[in-house]
Amino acid sequence: MGFKKQGDPVDARILPDDNEECSLLIGSFFVHHNGSLCFIATELEPRHEGAPHEVEFDWQKVYDLEDTGVPLIGWYHTHPFQEHIGYSPTDVATMKAWCRCFGRDMLCIIGNGNDQNEVYLFGKDGYKDTCDMHDLTYGTFRPGLFTFMGFFAP
Ligand SMILES: [Zn+2]
Repeated sequence: MGFKKQGDPVDARILPDDNEECSLLIGSFFVHHNGSLCFIATELEPRHEGAPHEVEFDWQKVYDLEDTGVPLIGWYHTHPFQEHIGYSPTDVATMKAWCRCFGRDMLCIIGNGNDQNEVYLFGKDGYKDTCDMHDLTYGTFRPGLFTFMGFFAP
């Protein structure tokens, strides 16, 4: 996942399914009384499709969302090439940069394109934690968009 200016979303149905996909996540973090850091994060809009091993977000759009107070809490993207999901060195660099830019921890959710997802928490110094348990729902807030809920144990 990288951040460069990108064009219009591409219709996913006409593209091979080994391309990476990405979306912006809005939502919130809250602390449960047992000390767990909980979150709810829903996709802002349908996923954009990139190329194999590469997907790019529109950085200007991210700044614009932040400026208008949209509660951006992270990014979703896929690694369709991975048998076991894990973040890449590029993902770490990208997440660190945005956490420093915004001054807060953010989610990096990575899927393999087959309903398997890993949820990572990143901060200004890089990786912080992996979500202990998470669930996802489809179309709760808007048809076609996924919502993720989960927590990081204390
Ligand atoms: Zn990645």
